[in-house]
Amino acid sequence: MLNKLRYDTTDLRKKDREHIIHPWEDLGIAATRQTLVVAEAKGAYIYDSDGHRMLDGIGGMWCVNIGYGRQDMAEAIADQAARLCYFSPFTVISNPPSIELAHRLTRHTPGDLKHVFFTTGGSTAVDSALRFVQFFFNFTGHPEKKHIISREYAFHGSTYLTASVSGKPGDRGNLDFVTDTVHLLPAPNTYRMPEGMTEQEFCDLKVADLENKILELGPDRVACFIAEPLLASGGVIVPPQGYQRRTLEVCRKHGVLYISDEVVTGFGRLGHIFASEPMFGLVPDIITTAKGLTSGYVPLGAFIVSDRLYQRVTGANAKGKLFANGYTYSGHPVACAAGLKNLEIIEREDICGHVRAIGPYFVERLKSLLDLPLVGDVRGSHMMVCVECVQDRRTKRVPPEEWEIAWRIARNTMRRGLMVRPLGHQLVLSPPLIITRAQIDEAVEHLRGGIEDTMGELIREELWSPK
Ligand code: PLP
Repeated sequence: MLNKLRYDTTDLRKKDREHIIHPWEDLGIAATRQTLVVAEAKGAYIYDSDGHRMLDGIGGMWCVNIGYGRQDMAEAIADQAARLCYFSPFTVISNPPSIELAHRLTRHTPGDLKHVFFTTGGSTAVDSALRFVQFFFNFTGHPEKKHIISREYAFHGSTYLTASVSGKPGDRGNLDFVTDTVHLLPAPNTYRMPEGMTEQEFCDLKVADLENKILELGPDRVACFIAEPLLASGGVIVPPQGYQRRTLEVCRKHGVLYISDEVVTGFGRLGHIFASEPMFGLVPDIITTAKGLTSGYVPLGAFIVSDRLYQRVTGANAKGKLFANGYTYSGHPVACAAGLKNLEIIEREDICGHVRAIGPYFVERLKSLLDLPLVGDVRGSHMMVCVECVQDRRTKRVPPEEWEIAWRIARNTMRRGLMVRPLGHQLVLSPPLIITRAQIDEAVEHLRGGIEDTMGELIREELWSPK
């Protein structure tokens, strides 16, 4: 049924060109682009509007953890929409799904992180967390603590402030950013660490980067450090062993708050609802979450803050102090009902256990691509992996932009039946977490084929020769 879809792709593409401005769109090709219209999906597969089936290697975009087309999820959403579609979440008004979801989430949070602020997605979760930090220090008599430390190649969102604390070089250039209070450290990328250095030495160096920056700015002026446990959209950068815990220790030592951005790493992608503590020994002050929180079925985000911080800004001495931040759709009942059902499914089906069991296989199978001369590095953990292409494996030289190497490979793998995410010269894989061993094999076979097709093209066009 699904592969005999009836959509008018030509008409849809025309209307798309005429009326939609896409996120991260190259506006130079807006008038001519041929959009991929993804029309339906089931399990781990998506179908375009012509009925072409592809294994979804990217989980929508780090999102659809429980897989597509779940009837139980659709029913939970429909049921809540019929019961109470929406009501204001402001001040003293609440709704059952948001209360219940906040309660259940805090069963999974590390330490004393138990106060949940709901938002509409990842950017608003991070933006709200950063504003909470500002509020916290203004309130507690440290208004000079304004500086935020982040890292190059981090991605934390697309509001003015969250884009400013993001560090992907390709996203800079055409927009404005907060620069006076935001500081980006070099990324802890072991693939590109100085030659001859051990991982341990590199870790020391990266931890020192943070401490030196705090000392340079003055600890009494630094509010927080924000970090994804693994830098997802920056190319699944896996910091050296021990880095996350040691950076937390540096923050603690200097009175700097730590925000762990788990928008991608949460909800099973690394085999835990929140990966910070079980995987990295990290009990941060704030965790941010979105995406897998509802498996992408409806938009929702949240930040979760420690009781230790919360207690200092609430109670009798806080009377009249508004945390004047929030959204019409904070704690949206339908979104929270989806969040509840999502958590129930993940727990009932032990999706985290499945990821812990099958994740190493996924990484290991993808590492088998390292025999291809165009592949320089395959890195990641469990269900988030990046394949980095290089022109020359010895020098690790990045292929010229004009080759559009990742797009070429993505086009070839899509033709073969696998969706991957091109990111500069890298390909990211983050499939639905319900993926099976057989589907992992299928994904790796298509990706190998796609890369081999691309190598053939480059050789024929006399752009490249294997080294
Ligand atoms: N934080 C991280 C780590 C992300 O990867 C993203 C999006 O990819 C965001 C925040 C922003 O989330 P959203 O696109 O839902 O606003």
